[in-house]
Amino acid sequence: MAAVEFAVYNLLGVFHKYSAKEGDALTLNKTELSTFLLQELPCCYRDDAMVLLDLDGDGEVDFLEFIEFITEITTELQDMYIHTILNYKRIPKFGAQTLTEKAIVTLIKCLEDKNNVPEVLRSLDSNRKAGIDFKEFMAFVANFAVAVEFTFVNLPKPEEGD
Ligand code: CA
Repeated sequence: MAAVEFAVYNLLGVFHKYSAKEGDALTLNKTELSTFLLQELPCCYRDDAMVLLDLDGDGEVDFLEFIEFITEITTELQDMYIHTILNYKRIPKFGAQTLTEKAIVTLIKCLEDKNNVPEVLRSLDSNRKAGIDFKEFMAFVANFAVAVEFTFVNLPKPEEGD
């Protein structure tokens, strides 16, 4: 579980680092999203990223939309990872530099090491094939991240003044 937690806390930390820069502290506006992509996931940077990530069309990317995006690219990269292992008989190397890249690589490698797979995941084996696949795993990670985020933003604020 430790590796999953590490990845989720890193993603939360990164999201809030960029969302707090201007305007609504709990969402990424267009500028914050661009800065996040350039600094954390340069491979995914594109001019129209806001259009792709802003699923509800309110002009901001909230944590749900952010984690949906992370889930999508992590699942895609995991497909490539498995494909390389199966077809080229080698384990691909990831040049993870940023916290976000490291979190994604951690998640991709989690299922390799059975010790990292939380007990609770067995109950999520939705298609009952004695084992969880990566999509089920990422659904768990996304739900876990959103639950932590919810707790995080609803913590009592320190008293102001004095
Ligand atoms: Ca939105």
